[in-house]
Amino acid sequence: MSMPAVADFARDFPILARPVRGRRLAYLDNGATTHKPEAVIEAESRFYRESNANIHRGVHWLSQHATDLYEQARERVRGLLGAARADEIVFTRGTTEAINLVAYSWGRANLRPGDEIVLTGMEHHSNIVPWQLVAGQAGATIRVVPLTDSGELRLDAYEALLGPRTRLVAVVHVSNALGTVNPVARMIELAHAVGARVLVDGAQAVAHQPVDVQALGCDFYAFSGHKLYGPTGIGALYARSELLEAMPPWQGGGDMIRTVAFEGSTWAEPPQRFEAGTPNIAGAIGLAAAIDYVAAIGLQRIADHEHRLLEHATAAVERIPGLRLIGTAPEKAGILSFVVDGIHPHDLGTILDAEGVAIRAGHHCAMPVMTRFGIPGTARASFALYNDERDVEALVAGIGKAQQMFGRRPHR
Ligand code: PLP
Repeated sequence: MSMPAVADFARDFPILARPVRGRRLAYLDNGATTHKPEAVIEAESRFYRESNANIHRGVHWLSQHATDLYEQARERVRGLLGAARADEIVFTRGTTEAINLVAYSWGRANLRPGDEIVLTGMEHHSNIVPWQLVAGQAGATIRVVPLTDSGELRLDAYEALLGPRTRLVAVVHVSNALGTVNPVARMIELAHAVGARVLVDGAQAVAHQPVDVQALGCDFYAFSGHKLYGPTGIGALYARSELLEAMPPWQGGGDMIRTVAFEGSTWAEPPQRFEAGTPNIAGAIGLAAAIDYVAAIGLQRIADHEHRLLEHATAAVERIPGLRLIGTAPEKAGILSFVVDGIHPHDLGTILDAEGVAIRAGHHCAMPVMTRFGIPGTARASFALYNDERDVEALVAGIGKAQQMFGRRPHR
Protein backbone atom coordinates (compact mmCIF):
# COMPACT_ATOMS: atom_id res chain seq x y z
CA MET A 1 0.00 0.00 0.00
CA SER A 2 1.39 3.41 -0.86
CA MET A 3 1.94 6.01 1.84
CA PRO A 4 -0.72 8.77 2.08
CA ALA A 5 0.25 12.27 0.95
CA VAL A 6 1.82 14.25 3.80
CA ALA A 7 -1.13 16.65 4.16
CA ASP A 8 -3.49 13.67 4.53
CA PHE A 9 -2.02 13.17 7.99
CA ALA A 10 -4.16 16.17 8.99
CA ARG A 11 -6.77 13.60 9.96
CA ASP A 12 -4.54 12.56 12.89
CA PHE A 13 -4.98 16.01 14.46
CA PRO A 14 -8.37 16.22 16.19
CA ILE A 15 -8.33 20.02 16.61
CA LEU A 16 -8.14 20.55 12.84
CA ALA A 17 -11.61 19.04 12.51
CA ARG A 18 -13.22 21.75 14.63
CA PRO A 19 -14.67 24.72 12.78
CA VAL A 20 -13.45 28.12 13.94
CA ARG A 21 -15.82 31.09 13.58
CA GLY A 22 -18.09 28.77 11.64
CA ARG A 23 -15.47 27.98 9.03
CA ARG A 24 -12.92 25.33 8.18
CA LEU A 25 -9.83 26.19 10.19
CA ALA A 26 -6.81 27.19 8.11
CA TYR A 27 -4.18 27.03 10.81
CA LEU A 28 -1.11 28.94 9.64
CA ASP A 29 0.43 29.80 13.01
CA ASN A 30 2.71 26.80 13.27
CA GLY A 31 5.77 28.93 13.94
CA ALA A 32 4.15 29.83 17.27
CA THR A 33 3.06 26.30 18.07
CA THR A 34 1.93 23.22 16.19
CA HIS A 35 -1.12 21.08 16.87
CA LYS A 36 -0.84 17.63 18.40
CA PRO A 37 -1.70 14.34 16.74
CA GLU A 38 -3.85 11.81 18.58
CA ALA A 39 -0.73 9.70 19.21
CA VAL A 40 0.82 12.48 21.32
CA ILE A 41 -2.38 13.28 23.22
CA GLU A 42 -2.87 9.60 23.89
CA ALA A 43 0.74 9.02 25.02
CA GLU A 44 0.47 11.79 27.61
CA SER A 45 -2.88 10.72 28.96
CA ARG A 46 -1.85 7.04 28.95
CA PHE A 47 1.14 7.98 31.09
CA TYR A 48 -1.17 9.50 33.70
CA ARG A 49 -3.62 6.61 33.49
CA GLU A 50 -1.11 3.77 33.60
CA SER A 51 2.41 4.83 34.53
CA ASN A 52 2.36 7.97 36.67
CA ALA A 53 4.99 8.19 39.42
CA ASN A 54 7.94 10.41 40.21
CA ILE A 55 11.19 9.33 38.60
CA HIS A 56 14.77 8.46 39.58
CA ARG A 57 14.28 8.21 43.34
CA GLY A 58 11.67 5.51 43.72
CA VAL A 59 12.21 1.94 44.80
CA HIS A 60 8.72 0.87 43.78
CA TRP A 61 7.73 -0.60 40.42
CA LEU A 62 5.76 2.36 39.08
CA SER A 63 8.60 4.76 39.79
CA GLN A 64 11.05 2.54 37.98
CA HIS A 65 8.60 2.16 35.11
CA ALA A 66 8.12 5.95 34.83
CA THR A 67 11.91 6.41 34.99
CA ASP A 68 12.35 3.92 32.15
CA LEU A 69 9.80 5.78 30.00
CA TYR A 70 11.44 9.14 30.74
CA GLU A 71 14.91 7.82 29.88
CA GLN A 72 13.53 6.18 26.72
CA ALA A 73 12.21 9.61 25.75
CA ARG A 74 15.73 11.00 26.17
CA GLU A 75 16.97 8.30 23.82
CA ARG A 76 14.32 9.38 21.27
CA VAL A 77 15.58 12.97 21.42
CA ARG A 78 19.13 11.69 20.95
CA GLY A 79 17.95 9.89 17.83
CA LEU A 80 16.08 12.94 16.52
CA LEU A 81 19.20 15.11 16.77
CA GLY A 82 21.72 12.44 15.81
CA ALA A 83 23.68 12.96 19.05
CA ALA A 84 26.30 10.37 19.96
CA ARG A 85 25.06 9.77 23.51
CA ALA A 86 21.76 10.10 25.39
CA ASP A 87 23.53 11.82 28.31
CA GLU A 88 24.26 14.72 25.97
CA ILE A 89 20.52 15.51 26.05
CA VAL A 90 19.16 17.68 28.88
CA PHE A 91 15.40 18.04 29.15
CA THR A 92 14.27 21.66 29.56
CA ARG A 93 10.98 23.55 29.36
CA GLY A 94 11.83 24.49 25.80
CA THR A 95 14.24 26.49 23.68
CA THR A 96 14.17 29.52 25.96
CA GLU A 97 15.16 27.53 29.02
CA ALA A 98 17.80 25.60 27.06
CA ILE A 99 19.49 28.84 25.97
CA ASN A 100 19.26 30.26 29.48
CA LEU A 101 20.87 27.07 30.79
CA VAL A 102 23.86 27.60 28.51
CA ALA A 103 24.05 31.31 29.31
CA TYR A 104 23.88 30.87 33.07
CA SER A 105 25.98 27.73 33.37
CA TRP A 106 28.53 27.77 30.55
CA GLY A 107 28.39 31.55 30.04
CA ARG A 108 28.96 32.54 33.66
CA ALA A 109 31.78 30.02 34.01
CA ASN A 110 33.57 30.93 30.78
CA LEU A 111 32.93 34.56 29.82
CA ARG A 112 35.51 37.12 30.92
CA PRO A 113 35.78 40.90 30.50
CA GLY A 114 36.64 41.73 26.90
CA ASP A 115 35.23 38.47 25.51
CA GLU A 116 32.83 38.70 22.59
CA ILE A 117 29.57 36.92 21.89
CA VAL A 118 28.50 36.94 18.25
CA LEU A 119 24.74 36.97 17.64
CA THR A 120 22.89 37.65 14.42
CA GLY A 121 20.39 40.32 13.47
CA MET A 122 17.64 37.71 13.09
CA GLU A 123 17.73 36.13 16.56
CA HIS A 124 14.57 35.52 18.56
CA HIS A 125 14.56 37.50 21.82
CA SER A 126 15.26 34.25 23.66
CA ASN A 127 18.66 34.10 21.93
CA ILE A 128 19.45 37.74 22.67
CA VAL A 129 18.28 38.64 26.15
CA PRO A 130 19.97 35.78 28.10
CA TRP A 131 23.27 36.81 26.46
CA GLN A 132 22.71 40.46 27.36
CA LEU A 133 22.07 39.49 30.98
CA VAL A 134 25.16 37.30 31.21
CA ALA A 135 27.42 39.55 29.12
CA GLY A 136 26.53 42.45 31.42
CA GLN A 137 27.64 40.48 34.46
CA ALA A 138 30.81 39.15 32.82
CA GLY A 139 31.91 42.36 31.10
CA ALA A 140 31.63 40.67 27.71
CA THR A 141 30.50 42.42 24.54
CA ILE A 142 27.83 41.42 22.03
CA ARG A 143 28.57 41.74 18.31
CA VAL A 144 25.84 41.34 15.70
CA VAL A 145 25.96 39.89 12.18
CA PRO A 146 23.96 42.20 9.87
CA LEU A 147 21.29 41.10 7.38
CA THR A 148 20.96 41.67 3.65
CA ASP A 149 17.78 43.12 2.15
CA SER A 150 16.56 39.62 1.33
CA GLY A 151 16.97 38.55 4.96
CA GLU A 152 20.17 36.55 4.73
CA LEU A 153 23.16 36.79 7.03
CA ARG A 154 26.09 38.72 5.64
CA LEU A 155 28.71 36.01 5.85
CA ASP A 156 31.50 38.41 4.91
CA ALA A 157 30.59 40.53 7.94
CA TYR A 158 30.35 37.40 10.09
CA GLU A 159 33.85 36.34 9.14
CA ALA A 160 35.12 39.82 9.87
CA LEU A 161 33.52 39.78 13.34
CA LEU A 162 35.19 36.50 14.33
CA GLY A 163 38.52 36.76 16.10
CA PRO A 164 40.55 35.75 19.13
CA ARG A 165 38.08 37.45 21.48
CA THR A 166 35.07 35.53 20.14
CA ARG A 167 34.04 33.09 22.85
CA LEU A 168 30.61 32.11 21.56
CA VAL A 169 28.48 32.31 18.43
CA ALA A 170 24.73 31.92 19.00
CA VAL A 171 22.74 31.61 15.79
CA VAL A 172 19.24 30.64 14.79
CA HIS A 173 19.03 27.65 12.43
CA VAL A 174 15.77 28.85 10.79
CA SER A 175 14.50 32.39 11.39
CA ASN A 176 10.96 32.53 12.77
CA ALA A 177 10.47 36.06 11.41
CA LEU A 178 11.96 35.63 7.92
CA GLY A 179 12.01 31.90 7.21
CA THR A 180 15.70 32.06 6.26
CA VAL A 181 17.60 28.80 6.68
CA ASN A 182 21.06 29.81 7.82
CA PRO A 183 24.26 28.08 6.64
CA VAL A 184 24.99 26.92 10.17
CA ALA A 185 27.47 24.15 9.25
CA ARG A 186 29.74 26.68 7.52
CA MET A 187 29.27 29.20 10.35
CA ILE A 188 30.23 26.57 12.93
CA GLU A 189 33.35 25.69 10.98
CA LEU A 190 34.40 29.34 10.86
CA ALA A 191 33.68 29.85 14.58
CA HIS A 192 35.62 26.75 15.56
CA ALA A 193 38.57 27.98 13.54
CA VAL A 194 38.91 30.88 16.02
CA GLY A 195 38.25 28.64 19.03
CA ALA A 196 34.68 29.81 19.71
CA ARG A 197 31.78 27.62 20.82
CA VAL A 198 28.55 27.60 18.84
CA LEU A 199 24.97 27.39 20.06
CA VAL A 200 22.28 26.77 17.45
CA ASP A 201 18.67 27.73 18.16
CA GLY A 202 16.76 24.97 16.42
CA ALA A 203 13.24 26.01 17.52
CA GLN A 204 12.03 26.45 13.92
CA ALA A 205 14.18 23.74 12.39
CA VAL A 206 13.59 20.35 14.00
CA ALA A 207 9.99 19.95 12.80
CA HIS A 208 10.79 20.99 9.26
CA GLN A 209 13.98 19.22 8.22
CA PRO A 210 16.25 16.40 9.40
CA VAL A 211 18.89 17.68 11.85
CA ASP A 212 22.19 15.99 12.71
CA VAL A 213 24.16 17.75 15.42
CA GLN A 214 27.26 15.65 14.75
CA ALA A 215 27.23 16.48 11.04
CA LEU A 216 26.70 20.16 11.90
CA GLY A 217 29.47 20.00 14.51
CA CYS A 218 27.67 22.38 16.87
CA ASP A 219 28.47 22.55 20.58
CA PHE A 220 24.90 23.28 21.74
CA TYR A 221 21.54 22.81 20.02
CA ALA A 222 18.20 23.90 21.54
CA PHE A 223 14.60 23.15 20.58
CA SER A 224 11.02 23.11 21.91
CA GLY A 225 8.69 20.10 21.81
CA HIS A 226 5.55 22.13 21.16
CA LYS A 227 6.78 23.31 17.76
CA LEU A 228 7.36 19.64 16.84
CA TYR A 229 3.79 18.39 17.40
CA GLY A 230 4.68 17.62 21.03
CA PRO A 231 3.43 19.04 24.33
CA THR A 232 4.17 22.49 25.71
CA GLY A 233 6.57 22.81 28.62
CA ILE A 234 9.11 20.32 27.29
CA GLY A 235 12.13 20.71 25.07
CA ALA A 236 15.78 19.85 25.12
CA LEU A 237 19.32 21.05 24.99
CA TYR A 238 21.96 19.01 23.22
CA ALA A 239 25.47 19.74 24.44
CA ARG A 240 28.69 17.91 23.65
CA SER A 241 29.54 15.71 26.62
CA GLU A 242 32.95 17.22 27.41
CA LEU A 243 31.31 20.65 27.66
CA LEU A 244 28.42 19.42 29.82
CA GLU A 245 30.80 17.58 32.16
CA ALA A 246 32.73 20.78 32.82
CA MET A 247 29.64 22.96 33.29
CA PRO A 248 28.45 23.96 36.77
CA PRO A 249 24.78 23.65 37.78
CA TRP A 250 22.56 26.64 37.13
CA GLN A 251 19.55 25.61 39.22
CA GLY A 252 19.79 23.79 42.51
CA GLY A 253 17.39 21.31 44.03
CA GLY A 254 16.49 17.66 44.17
CA ASP A 255 17.90 15.18 41.66
CA MET A 256 20.84 17.33 40.56
CA ILE A 257 23.11 16.51 43.49
CA ARG A 258 25.32 13.63 44.58
CA THR A 259 25.64 14.69 48.23
CA VAL A 260 24.27 17.60 50.23
CA ALA A 261 25.70 18.90 53.49
CA PHE A 262 25.58 22.35 55.03
CA GLU A 263 29.35 22.51 54.59
CA GLY A 264 28.94 22.06 50.84
CA SER A 265 27.30 19.89 48.23
CA THR A 266 28.49 17.87 45.25
CA TRP A 267 26.80 17.48 41.88
CA ALA A 268 25.36 14.63 39.91
CA GLU A 269 26.77 13.80 36.51
CA PRO A 270 25.12 15.33 33.42
CA PRO A 271 22.37 15.37 32.34
CA GLN A 272 20.88 15.08 35.89
CA ARG A 273 23.10 17.96 37.05
CA PHE A 274 20.97 20.25 34.90
CA GLU A 275 17.54 18.81 35.69
CA ALA A 276 16.81 20.07 39.19
CA GLY A 277 13.43 19.16 40.63
CA THR A 278 10.64 17.04 39.19
CA PRO A 279 10.73 17.45 35.43
CA ASN A 280 7.84 17.40 32.96
CA ILE A 281 7.73 13.60 32.84
CA ALA A 282 4.48 13.31 30.90
CA GLY A 283 5.72 16.03 28.53
CA ALA A 284 8.91 14.10 27.79
CA ILE A 285 6.85 11.00 27.03
CA GLY A 286 4.53 13.04 24.79
CA LEU A 287 7.59 14.46 23.03
CA ALA A 288 8.89 10.95 22.40
CA ALA A 289 5.53 10.10 20.81
CA ALA A 290 5.80 13.22 18.62
CA ILE A 291 9.30 12.21 17.51
CA ASP A 292 8.06 8.72 16.63
CA TYR A 293 5.16 10.31 14.76
CA VAL A 294 7.29 12.54 12.51
CA ALA A 295 9.86 9.80 12.05
CA ALA A 296 7.15 7.47 10.72
CA ILE A 297 6.12 10.05 8.11
CA GLY A 298 9.74 11.04 7.45
CA LEU A 299 11.23 14.45 8.14
CA GLN A 300 12.60 14.73 4.61
CA ARG A 301 9.12 14.07 3.19
CA ILE A 302 7.70 16.70 5.52
CA ALA A 303 10.41 19.16 4.42
CA ASP A 304 9.67 18.48 0.73
CA HIS A 305 5.91 18.91 1.26
CA GLU A 306 6.33 22.20 3.13
CA HIS A 307 8.77 23.43 0.52
CA ARG A 308 6.30 22.79 -2.30
CA LEU A 309 3.62 24.58 -0.31
CA LEU A 310 5.96 27.50 0.34
CA GLU A 311 6.68 27.85 -3.38
CA HIS A 312 2.98 27.69 -4.21
CA ALA A 313 2.11 30.25 -1.51
CA THR A 314 4.97 32.57 -2.43
CA ALA A 315 3.82 32.67 -6.06
CA ALA A 316 0.21 33.26 -4.94
CA VAL A 317 0.92 36.15 -2.57
CA GLU A 318 3.41 37.76 -4.95
CA ARG A 319 0.47 38.31 -7.31
CA ILE A 320 -1.31 40.42 -4.68
CA PRO A 321 -0.77 44.12 -5.42
CA GLY A 322 0.54 46.09 -2.45
CA LEU A 323 1.90 43.04 -0.66
CA ARG A 324 5.60 42.90 0.18
CA LEU A 325 7.36 39.79 1.41
CA ILE A 326 9.85 40.32 4.21
CA GLY A 327 12.41 37.56 3.87
CA THR A 328 13.11 36.36 0.34
CA ALA A 329 16.27 34.34 0.86
CA PRO A 330 16.83 31.50 -1.62
CA GLU A 331 17.09 29.03 1.28
CA LYS A 332 13.80 29.29 3.17
CA ALA A 333 11.62 27.12 5.38
CA GLY A 334 7.81 27.26 5.30
CA ILE A 335 7.37 30.78 6.66
CA LEU A 336 5.84 33.73 4.79
CA SER A 337 6.28 37.08 6.49
CA PHE A 338 4.70 40.04 4.73
CA VAL A 339 3.27 43.54 4.97
CA VAL A 340 0.34 44.91 2.99
CA ASP A 341 0.16 48.58 2.02
CA GLY A 342 -2.21 50.57 4.23
CA ILE A 343 -3.21 47.66 6.49
CA HIS A 344 -1.63 47.15 9.89
CA PRO A 345 -0.59 43.52 10.40
CA HIS A 346 -2.86 43.28 13.47
CA ASP A 347 -5.89 44.41 11.44
CA LEU A 348 -5.00 41.91 8.77
CA GLY A 349 -4.74 39.17 11.40
CA THR A 350 -8.14 40.08 12.82
CA ILE A 351 -9.85 40.07 9.41
CA LEU A 352 -8.23 36.75 8.49
CA ASP A 353 -9.36 35.32 11.82
CA ALA A 354 -12.97 36.11 10.95
CA GLU A 355 -12.40 33.98 7.83
CA GLY A 356 -11.09 31.04 9.88
CA VAL A 357 -7.47 31.75 8.93
CA ALA A 358 -5.09 31.76 11.90
CA ILE A 359 -1.88 33.70 11.30
CA ARG A 360 0.40 35.67 13.61
CA ALA A 361 0.88 39.43 13.46
CA GLY A 362 3.50 41.53 15.19
CA HIS A 363 7.23 41.50 15.77
CA HIS A 364 7.39 37.71 16.39
CA CYS A 365 9.79 38.25 19.32
CA ALA A 366 12.37 39.43 16.80
CA MET A 367 12.22 43.20 17.20
CA PRO A 368 15.70 43.79 15.70
CA VAL A 369 14.45 42.23 12.44
CA MET A 370 11.56 44.71 12.33
CA THR A 371 13.95 47.58 13.05
CA ARG A 372 16.24 46.38 10.25
CA PHE A 373 13.37 46.44 7.75
CA GLY A 374 11.88 49.68 9.14
CA ILE A 375 8.47 48.17 9.94
CA PRO A 376 6.51 47.73 13.18
CA GLY A 377 5.70 44.12 12.44
CA THR A 378 4.62 41.65 9.80
CA ALA A 379 1.81 39.22 9.17
CA ARG A 380 3.21 35.71 9.23
CA ALA A 381 1.84 32.49 7.81
CA SER A 382 3.86 29.44 8.82
CA PHE A 383 3.30 25.92 7.55
CA ALA A 384 3.27 22.47 9.06
CA LEU A 385 2.88 19.00 7.63
CA TYR A 386 -0.95 19.14 7.75
CA ASN A 387 -1.32 22.32 5.64
CA ASP A 388 -2.31 22.17 2.00
CA GLU A 389 -3.33 24.38 -0.94
CA ARG A 390 -6.75 25.05 0.60
CA ASP A 391 -5.06 26.87 3.47
CA VAL A 392 -3.14 29.02 0.99
CA GLU A 393 -6.32 29.79 -0.94
CA ALA A 394 -8.08 30.83 2.27
CA LEU A 395 -5.13 33.07 3.13
CA VAL A 396 -5.06 34.75 -0.28
CA ALA A 397 -8.84 35.23 -0.31
CA GLY A 398 -8.71 36.70 3.21
CA ILE A 399 -6.00 39.18 2.27
CA GLY A 400 -8.11 40.25 -0.74
CA LYS A 401 -11.08 40.78 1.54
CA ALA A 402 -9.01 42.89 3.93
CA GLN A 403 -7.80 45.02 1.04
CA GLN A 404 -11.37 45.60 -0.07
CA MET A 405 -12.43 46.53 3.46
CA PHE A 406 -9.57 49.00 3.67
CA GLY A 407 -10.36 50.37 0.21
CA ARG A 408 -6.96 49.28 -1.02
CA ARG A 409 -8.23 47.21 -3.89
CA PRO A 410 -11.08 47.73 -6.33
CA HIS A 411 -14.06 45.39 -6.07
CA ARG A 412 -14.05 42.95 -8.96
N1 PLP B 1 13.75 30.65 18.97
C1 PLP B 1 12.96 30.75 17.90
C2 PLP B 1 13.58 30.90 16.55
C3 PLP B 1 11.58 30.72 18.05
O1 PLP B 1 10.79 30.83 16.98
C4 PLP B 1 11.03 30.57 19.34
C5 PLP B 1 9.58 30.58 19.55
O2 PLP B 1 8.82 31.18 18.82
C6 PLP B 1 11.90 30.45 20.43
C7 PLP B 1 13.25 30.49 20.20
C8 PLP B 1 11.39 30.28 21.82
O3 PLP B 1 10.76 29.06 21.97
P1 PLP B 1 9.98 28.71 23.31
O4 PLP B 1 9.04 29.85 23.56
O5 PLP B 1 9.29 27.43 22.98
O6 PLP B 1 11.01 28.55 24.39
